[in-house]
Amino acid sequence: MKKVFVETLGCQMNKSDSERILGMLSHFGFDEAERAEDADFLIINTCSIRQLSADKAYSRVGVWGKWKQKNRNLKIAFCGCVAQQDKDRLLKRFPYLDLVFGTHNIYQLPELVKRIYEGERVCAITQKPYIVDETQYEIKRADSLNAWIPITEGCDNFCTYCIVPFTRGRERSREPEKIIKEAEIAIKQGFKEITLLGQNVDSYGKTLGENVTLANLLRQLNKLEGKFRIRFVTSYPTDISDDLIDAVEECDKVCEYFHIPMQSGNSEVLAAMNRRYNREQYGAIVKKIRDRFEDVTITSDFIAGFPGETEEQFLDTLSAIDEFGLDYSNTAAYSPREFTKAAKWTDKFIDEDTKIKRLATLNEKVKEACLKSNKKFIGKTQEILVESSEEKDGQCILAGRARNNKIVHFSGDSSLIGQFVNVKITGASVWHLRGELL
Ligand code: SF4
Repeated sequence: MKKVFVETLGCQMNKSDSERILGMLSHFGFDEAERAEDADFLIINTCSIRQLSADKAYSRVGVWGKWKQKNRNLKIAFCGCVAQQDKDRLLKRFPYLDLVFGTHNIYQLPELVKRIYEGERVCAITQKPYIVDETQYEIKRADSLNAWIPITEGCDNFCTYCIVPFTRGRERSREPEKIIKEAEIAIKQGFKEITLLGQNVDSYGKTLGENVTLANLLRQLNKLEGKFRIRFVTSYPTDISDDLIDAVEECDKVCEYFHIPMQSGNSEVLAAMNRRYNREQYGAIVKKIRDRFEDVTITSDFIAGFPGETEEQFLDTLSAIDEFGLDYSNTAAYSPREFTKAAKWTDKFIDEDTKIKRLATLNEKVKEACLKSNKKFIGKTQEILVESSEEKDGQCILAGRARNNKIVHFSGDSSLIGQFVNVKITGASVWHLRGELL
C-alpha cells in the first residue's frame, strides 16, 4: 500500500478539503502516513489569503524537492488556493512537482493520480467545480469529536482585499439532502459536534430555492437523533436574518456562537473594502443577537493597515471591539493579493512599520477584550464537551469547550473525553476559563 501525507495550511475549508482528499485516496490504495518523511506521495494544500502563507507553501515544497533528489519515486502535488491562483506557473517554478490541482478539481483526483503514476506532469485547474456525487467517498476526519461539513463554497461579495472569489469561485450551496446524510453518518460514527462551513455560511441556499436557508437547514439537522452540537461559520454581518436568529434560539442543539467578521471599525474604510454595512449597522446586528442570548459569544476578524487607513480610522477599530463587546477577534496586517482591487492602490499602501505597530496594538486590545469577556463567566455553570486531557503536577487536567466556544480547563478523569459535563467556572485568564466539575 502506498502512503500519502497531506500538509494543510489555512482555514477550516482547507482542512475539510484535506479530509476529503485523504478519504478519496484511501479508495485508491493509499494509506495515510503520519509523517511527511514516510510518504510516497506528498500533497500540500495551500492558502493564499496572505503572502506569508503562500511563501510557507513554496518553501515547504522546496524542501520536498530536495527529498525527491534522493528518492526519484516520490510524487509531489500542490493544491488549494495558491494552486488555483498560480496554475501552471507552479510546474515551471518547481520542476520536481508532479501535480497541480485547483480547488474545483479535488474530485478529479483519482484520474489525476493515475496520470502522474503513468509518468505525466499534470496541471488541472478549472473555473467550474468538477461535478461528482461526493457522498460516495469516505472522509478521513482529522478530529475525533468535531466533524467539519462544508455547506457553501465560494463567494460573490468581492471585498476589495480578498482573493477568495478568485480562488474558490462564485458562491454555490450543497443540496440539503447531501449535508443531512453527511451529518447523520458523522453522528453515527460518534462525532459530538458538527460545524457547518462556508465562506458566507448565512447566505446558504441562495442558489437552491426560496425555502432553502441556513435557518431551515439548522431546523432539519436539529431533528436528527442523538446528543450532539451544531455550529456554523463564517457569517457575513448583513446576511444574518431574523429567521436565522430565531432558528438558533429554537434549536437546542445549535450553539450560541456567532463568528461575524467586521474587518474595520470605521465606516469609510468599510466602504473602501466593499463591505455592505457600516459601523452602526454592524453594531445593530451584534446588539440584536446579544439581546436574545445571555451567554452568547460573538467573535470577529480585523485587518490592520488597509490601504489609506488613517491613524484615526484605525482607532475606530479599537473602539468597536470595546463598544460591541467582541469576545475574541482574529487579526492580520493587510497583505496585497493578486487580482484584487485594493492591491492596485499602491499609492495608498501603509508602510510596513506602521502596519506592524497597528497590528501589535490591535492584538493587545483583543487580549484585553478576551480577558474581560472571560471574566463575565466566573460563577456561572456551563455545559462542556470534554476534548482532551493533560497531566500537570500529578493531576489530570481536562480541556473542553462550552456551547459558546469558550475553552475551559478543569480537573477530572480522562475517561470523560467525548462526554458532556457541567462545570462551574471559577477563574478566567486571557485564553481560557478554569472551573470545577459538578
Ligand atoms: S465575504 Fe469578502 S472577505 Fe469573505 S470570502 Fe467573500 S470576498 Fe472574501
